[in-house]
Amino acid sequence: MAYQTINPYTNETIKTYDFSTPADIEKALTLGYGLYKKWRDGPVDERAKILHKIADLFRQHEDELAKTAVNDMGKLIGEAKGEVELCAMIADYYADHGADLLKPTPITTRATGEAQIEKHSTGVILAVEPWNFPYYQVMRVFAPNFIVGNPMVLKGPSNTPGSSDAFGRIVTEAGAPEGSFTNLFVNYDQVGAIIADPRVQGVALTGSERGGRAVAKAAGENLKKNTMELGGMDAFIVLDDADIDQVADIAWRARLYNAGQVCTSSKRFIVADNLYDQFLTTLKAHFAAVTPGDPMDPKTTFAPMNSKRAKDKLQDQIDRAVKAGAKVYYGNEKVDLPGQFIQPTILTDISKDNPAYSEEMFGPVAQVYKVSSEQEAVDLANDSDFGLGGIIFSGDPDRGARVASKVETGMMFVNNFMTSLPEQPFGGVKKSGYGRELSQLGMMAFVNEELIVKAQKPDLSNPAGGLAVV
Ligand code: NAP
Repeated sequence: MAYQTINPYTNETIKTYDFSTPADIEKALTLGYGLYKKWRDGPVDERAKILHKIADLFRQHEDELAKTAVNDMGKLIGEAKGEVELCAMIADYYADHGADLLKPTPITTRATGEAQIEKHSTGVILAVEPWNFPYYQVMRVFAPNFIVGNPMVLKGPSNTPGSSDAFGRIVTEAGAPEGSFTNLFVNYDQVGAIIADPRVQGVALTGSERGGRAVAKAAGENLKKNTMELGGMDAFIVLDDADIDQVADIAWRARLYNAGQVCTSSKRFIVADNLYDQFLTTLKAHFAAVTPGDPMDPKTTFAPMNSKRAKDKLQDQIDRAVKAGAKVYYGNEKVDLPGQFIQPTILTDISKDNPAYSEEMFGPVAQVYKVSSEQEAVDLANDSDFGLGGIIFSGDPDRGARVASKVETGMMFVNNFMTSLPEQPFGGVKKSGYGRELSQLGMMAFVNEELIVKAQKPDLSNPAGGLAVV
């Protein structure tokens, strides 16, 4: 597919980008590998300074970066600015904490001498990233790996090339050595070839199950470490003692933020029967109150979807859900604007054999289920192939946390909106993927945790009775 910016509000094709040439790819890998060799044993101080500079530049260029993202994929300008700030926070976090997080960890062992686990870079990392947060997704991989000493090549999404390009310009402007980050406009075959290249030691993908399978397969065939940040069907559980006003204030945001195109959007609302009717009434009121319009206009509160393709796919999913017996409680009417809008929609009465029960709907569609016990809520939440995030509301936060622990996901938030912050690990289980990004866990994704055991002289008296114990 061509790398093209088509503004999803105006439907105007703004710019088409040329594909990278084989020479561009070779140059990126040569420069990246050279930097890896240079950085591997050195201190991180210089890179930390550059990362702070990158954070400063993200903040300085906030308006321009935000507008580029809005043109690329149509998110609200305010949300785009929030994304730019989050990128700056992630860069600052790794600049501030990177050196500490990479310190060797001493371990106690029966072997003679002192033992520690050192943390070393491994090589060039390929990041394959989606369009829904065209800067943040990239920063989640770039910042930790830059500090670690792993240069990065990016295969960004074909529909947000302006943002990928802008990210590269900021890294260059900050004074990062050439090869630290290279944005490549490559096709799927070239992604496979990059993964196979011996200079590349890892691949991080955020995206769909389809993209994840293809890239994980190529990584597996080449025995390259990989992390997969995939889709979700996150549950938003409302227990019988929840404060419905608090729930109402958060629930609509948890579904409509970024026009519902968030891996951790609340996609399934699982509501205790005593609060079910009230929940539906308030969710409908909030969904009906949004203002669709030009995402560049700060007064607009509801954005179009990122592309015609995404809109058509979601409409087809709604149609199939309704055909299979789901009821439209609110929405599913045409939005009389030129952009790629799907009206915020609430579906109820979704049976287990309805395709909507198990398919991720990546847009502003809320599924609402009624349950009659805490156990039923947990069972329903866990009856999914996905396990990324989740939200739970209870009048008793400790009860909420106890129930949250029973949900098979990577992240749960009690009585609040789900947030992504640099110090919190991000990732899931089941078909939502494996590995984590952000925090120290994410930073270790492509680190060689090298064991060094230092003895003064050989000692043959180890408990297993030999030198070579494996
Ligand atoms: P996608 O189609 O899988 O695309 C993601 C990236 O993978 C794009 O750069 C895409 O390139 C590339 N790609 C797709 N198929 C590929 C292949 N066979 N070989 C090489 N590269 C390939 O996903 P999407 O529809 O853009 O993103 C939405 C999905 O991402 C949702 O399922 C969402 O839940 C998930 N997501 C997960 C997280 C998380 O952290 N877990 C965060 C955000 C989004 P092209 O653009 O050129 O196709």
